[in-house]
Amino acid sequence: MTDAAPNAYAERLGIAAPRLEDVVKRPRLSYLELFVAALLERGGPLTLDEVLYAVHRVKPAEHPEILRVSLMKSWAGRPPVVKEPDGRYGIDLGSYRVDRFLRRLGLRTPPPHPSAPPLPPLPGPDVPLSKDELAIVFRDGVPVMWSGVRFAASVLDAYDRPMTPDEVRQAVVALCGHPGPPAKASRRSAVPGLVVTDEAGRLVLNRSSTDLAAVRAQARERLAAYHRELADRKQLELDVAQSRRLLEELIARQLGVSKAPKAGKQAWRGIVVAVQPRIRLTRSFDERSHSYLGFVLRVHGELDGETRDFLVAIGDGAQAKHEFRVGDEVSGVGEWVAHPDLEIADLYKASGFEVAARGPSARTSPPPTTGVPPTLEEYRARGHRRLAALTYAAKCVSCLWGAEMAVEMVIDPWKPKARKYRRETFCYGPKSCPQYAAGPTRKVPGRMGMSWEEADWVDEEATRHRGSDE
Ligand code: SF4
Repeated sequence: MTDAAPNAYAERLGIAAPRLEDVVKRPRLSYLELFVAALLERGGPLTLDEVLYAVHRVKPAEHPEILRVSLMKSWAGRPPVVKEPDGRYGIDLGSYRVDRFLRRLGLRTPPPHPSAPPLPPLPGPDVPLSKDELAIVFRDGVPVMWSGVRFAASVLDAYDRPMTPDEVRQAVVALCGHPGPPAKASRRSAVPGLVVTDEAGRLVLNRSSTDLAAVRAQARERLAAYHRELADRKQLELDVAQSRRLLEELIARQLGVSKAPKAGKQAWRGIVVAVQPRIRLTRSFDERSHSYLGFVLRVHGELDGETRDFLVAIGDGAQAKHEFRVGDEVSGVGEWVAHPDLEIADLYKASGFEVAARGPSARTSPPPTTGVPPTLEEYRARGHRRLAALTYAAKCVSCLWGAEMAVEMVIDPWKPKARKYRRETFCYGPKSCPQYAAGPTRKVPGRMGMSWEEADWVDEEATRHRGSDE
């Protein structure tokens, strides 16, 4: 599976950041799993439109509204997806359900379940009992159902010599600390019994007795029970150790212990499939401001050893120099974006550009428009209208008038750290473009749960100076 740029969720979870294009290849994923995958790819909270856009990208739906309903029904408030106060959706990284999703998405291999070593094989009934076996068999005392004959037979079998009842007693005390029942010979009968008495009065085991195999089998049943008990105890220890390890990992995630992000320069190359402005939008309730940072190249090519689509952030100086346009074949190096909340690109600090082939510089008409994009000043002067995220994904990704912006929202001006992040899509193109769809109005969260809705008049005001075809 190909790694995307490192992101906050991936770092907290200790996984490689996923790409939806890879994740979607897994069989029978539910919409909720795709929902989680989209959030993991992003590395932070998303609006529902952004989730729709991401899922639609890899699993196009004929009717986006049906996709929206499917995602919502699939979620139904269940963890680990949570709805934040600003209306965006995020992942509760401390949820015990996160692991299950990571495994379903192929992002985390389940730890092998530890298992106790297998039970040792036991000898068959032809093999005499050993003293070690007897020590275990009698560790909790001689079984109450065992007669003095059976008890004597087992001891004589292990010691392999005639013994007086007193010697049997001493041997068993030495083995397990208690004497056991009085050792006896079998009752006299026409057929020699299991234990007989010799002329010296000692007990002798009759190894030809058919009862000997039963004595050994009964002794080894107790032996097997002892080994099972040991194995169960070992398994319990391993299970407890595994649970403790998983719990520590969960706590570490909740405390935000993270791994170091990837660092270093990444070489990339490929065909430019879109050039759009790189603009960061800062919102503070009903106020907004733009930072015109440069341009974003959407490239289809090789990055980090994989062939895929990726975004490279460049400065306006590099764009002015190279006049990148759709169809260019370009290579260079860049660094993984350190704060994905603040950039839509995968790489930034790009340099070492080499242009191997050029695409057409003339602008195409009607939209989506390609060719050399205008300067940032022209974008600023034109102003933008909001653009539905799904329309952007379906029709405007290659248009030089489209823009996806990283949005930073200042929730409380008195608390500088109270900020939230999301992405919004906009159109700088002609108001007559038939592809255009505004999508739902956007709401900006503020202090104490308040929110401000950006009404249509804001867009009308921003583009009032342009005619419908400009
Ligand atoms: S809606 Fe805007 S971004 Fe989309 S194709 Fe038309 S002009 Fe381009």
